[in-house]
Amino acid sequence: MRRLQGLLMDLRALTRGFRVTFRTMLRAPVTLRYPEQRPVLPARSRGRHELQLHENGLEKCVGCELCALVCPADAIYVEGAENPKDAPISIGERYAKTYTINFLRCIFCGLCVEACPTEALQMRGDFELAGVDRESLIYTKDRLLARTVRREAGDSWLP
Ligand code: SF4
Ligand code: SF4
Repeated sequence: MRRLQGLLMDLRALTRGFRVTFRTMLRAPVTLRYPEQRPVLPARSRGRHELQLHENGLEKCVGCELCALVCPADAIYVEGAENPKDAPISIGERYAKTYTINFLRCIFCGLCVEACPTEALQMRGDFELAGVDRESLIYTKDRLLARTVRREAGDSWLP
């Protein structure tokens, strides 16, 4: 009698286990064949930063250094300078002569984006931040601007 009870309990456990297995088999996979398949990220996901440009090509960043001041990880370095009158770089009186973000330090909190008065700094859905050495993860201004330019040029590989 006891053996029969044990057998029934085993069968019940087995059925429960198979039910979970078959139910999961019929569901769509939650994983992607990355990098061939790319995830659709939420619109407000916090990926790598980008420095935005105005439609006329001038930089939105006016080199005010607020982003660097609020950064809790000390990841941003900005050096502002007077805008050249004959060939302005931004719309303000000043522009960012030097602008770097150290992604080895950044914790992607988004405080710098909130602090920016001109909406020059935006976080995009770019999460591919691998590098071959430490220096390659310290992004200079040309790299922070470059992807904006590439997106405007219709680079479909960019997220
Ligand atoms: S997201 Fe946060 S940690 Fe990263 S640069 Fe901006 S303020 Fe600093
Ligand atoms: S990104 Fe924004 S907050 Fe940072 S220096 Fe430029 S204008 Fe100022």
